[in-house]
Amino acid sequence: RLTNELATTNREAVRRAREPERALARLHAANEVIEKLARTDSLTLLANRRGVEEAIAHERDRVERTSEPLSVVALDLDLFKRVNDTWGHAVGDRLLSAVGEALRAGVRPYDVAARAGGEEFLLVLPATSRERASDVAERLRARVAQLAVEGLPERVTASAGVAEHAGRETTEALLSRADAALYEAKRLGRNRVVLAPPPGPAA
Ligand code: GH3
Ligand code: MG
Ligand code: MG
Repeated sequence: RLTNELATTNREAVRRAREPERALARLHAANEVIEKLARTDSLTLLANRRGVEEAIAHERDRVERTSEPLSVVALDLDLFKRVNDTWGHAVGDRLLSAVGEALRAGVRPYDVAARAGGEEFLLVLPATSRERASDVAERLRARVAQLAVEGLPERVTASAGVAEHAGRETTEALLSRADAALYEAKRLGRNRVVLAPPPGPAA
């Protein structure tokens, strides 16, 4: 009996001694979830702007080591405000989710698809030249134009700007070239893909 009691006491002591360890493990797990959420867009479950900027920074490091190309695509839905105004915000949200899913399903597993905010999406395409990236963008543009969601009796188009990382360009500079190309696609009449020229010597 005494041995039994001692064994029980011992087990209890061991359990207590491990409590801080377990609490710490739970804390680490919870932190991982929080870190992941901070980089995720809650509507589409794609990466958010923060997540995609980190992904680009990570890929830029690799570009400098391996000289592999790296391209980004900025894709923005055309006249999306009108979709919300005409069919309602819930329908707009549904379309955003569908676009998110189409982009996710339409890129390779090691590409990153992100919702950068509002109705603007970003793709990070490692080991992809600007020409190949522009083919990808064109394919996705065509796919978006076919998306059908409940409550939306019309199709919605998208415009995209493509830029390939050049030299020691910062993430910000790369994204701003993709953005400028996107803006040019809008200016030319929307529903198209525009390739950004390489940065000028002044950049
Ligand atoms: P453009 O072709 O020039 O891009 O025109 P646009 O109407 O798409 O662009 P604009 O920037 O004028 O409007 C974007 C709209 O996107 C404004 C806002 O109503 C809508 N929007 C932004 N975020 C969300 C969202 O989370 N859900 C929904 N439903 N709408 C959103
Ligand atoms: Mg738009
Ligand atoms: Mg926009």
